[in-house]
Amino acid sequence: MRLLLVEDDPMIGKAVRQGLLNAGFAVDWAHDGAAAELALRDAVYDLAILDLGLPVKDGMTLLESMRRQGNHLPVLVATARDAVASRIAGLNAGADDYLVKPFDMDELVARARALIRRRAGSGSSQLVAGDLVLDPLRRTVTQAGAPVALSAREFALLETLMQRPGAVLSKEKLEESMYGWGEEIGSNAVEVHLHYLRKKLGAAAIVNVRGVGYRVAD
Ligand code: CA
Repeated sequence: MRLLLVEDDPMIGKAVRQGLLNAGFAVDWAHDGAAAELALRDAVYDLAILDLGLPVKDGMTLLESMRRQGNHLPVLVATARDAVASRIAGLNAGADDYLVKPFDMDELVARARALIRRRAGSGSSQLVAGDLVLDPLRRTVTQAGAPVALSAREFALLETLMQRPGAVLSKEKLEESMYGWGEEIGSNAVEVHLHYLRKKLGAAAIVNVRGVGYRVAD
């Protein structure tokens, strides 16, 4: 899952980005409102985490213009402005949830997952393909009922494939879902993670459509 983090404070941004990476999200970090606007035009995200006090274009203005343009991306506002008035203003402007700084990283991750799940709409958050069951919330995978231990990257890769059962996803598409801006990506990083994934799940679990990409087996 790909997140847009909009935060101008370098210390907070760095810590939050790292926390989100550790939780298995791909993260793009925009340092001001205008950069965030550009990012939203170019990439598809599952969630934005938005600071309100931002240079160039403040978070509230950005949020209002997003909603005016019909962009329904879930937005979690994370800000130091803890006054009740601004909290209400933020929610009225179209924020889906609100966290006051300083916040606990675990809570941010839990709320981010809840918003993404809510948007996905289904009552059950579990993804199923063949004998594989992936729970995005609990971060667990079972195969024929037996738990499988995956690294954060392997999990992200499998989750992306299982979100689109039957679809063949290119290596570039898989890379995009796993890595944010500025992350060092080895030229064969996706292949390496797929190799380990297949080693753990069995080679037949992920089908390589030669020259096109990969899909999860039915
Ligand atoms: Ca700020």
